[in-house]
Amino acid sequence: MNKIAVANWKMYLNTSEASHYALKLKKTENTFRQDVDIVLCPSFLSLQEVGSILSGSKISLGAQDIFWEERGAYTGEVSPADLVSSGCRYVLLGHSERRKYFHETNAMVHEKVRICLRHKIIPIICIGENWDDRRQGQKDYVLIRQLNEILGGIDVNVADALIIAYEPVWAISAGGGINATPDEVQYAHQVIRHVLLDLYDHTRVNTCFRIIYGGSVDLENVNSYAALAHVSGVLVGNASTKFDVFTQLIQRM
Ligand code: PEP
Repeated sequence: MNKIAVANWKMYLNTSEASHYALKLKKTENTFRQDVDIVLCPSFLSLQEVGSILSGSKISLGAQDIFWEERGAYTGEVSPADLVSSGCRYVLLGHSERRKYFHETNAMVHEKVRICLRHKIIPIICIGENWDDRRQGQKDYVLIRQLNEILGGIDVNVADALIIAYEPVWAISAGGGINATPDEVQYAHQVIRHVLLDLYDHTRVNTCFRIIYGGSVDLENVNSYAALAHVSGVLVGNASTKFDVFTQLIQRM
């Protein structure tokens, strides 16, 4: 199974910057490692344009969110079918910034996972404890609860259907920016794997899920995370917005 590098551009790049970046990446894609899948997640407004630039390339498109209904009176939302038609294969779910600013809950993420699977979109489910949870020794508990509430009752049987991104909130550049140690990341990935093994059988966990890491990943630390057992890739925010940094980072995974 390939490793994966996901670029979360958040609200950093406008449509013209995102398109310029995507075009440059597409032109040079053959020079990058072929054993790393690349996913770009621009803003909703840029999806159509970046999607048409990426069409025919190996680089995939991802959205930063999805809504759980097919269509209707949901002002401000974008229909899942529109995401698919703009070329989205992935979508970020439950990012800590959405939980913080938009009060997104595990129950909402659960519904979003369902709609993703219905549309054959690969959800990148972000989970992770905040600083207080960590200080109070609640880290494992938070991960266990998040995974159970998000995945409980969800049947999975398609290869590579879901990605779990372990993103401790305190490690995200905009949420504290403290580098997690590789040992901490390894440990959390083991906890996540054990919870998945409680929810699904061994074969499904091995074939349907990838577990990746995110939180201030940069050129200096990427290899220390990407080389860990059971870490299938990285989710990169800030560092992914700079073309030269992100492309070098892929080479160092
Ligand atoms: C993120 O917000 O998903 C993230 C990983 O951000 P950063 O790399 O900037 O910490």
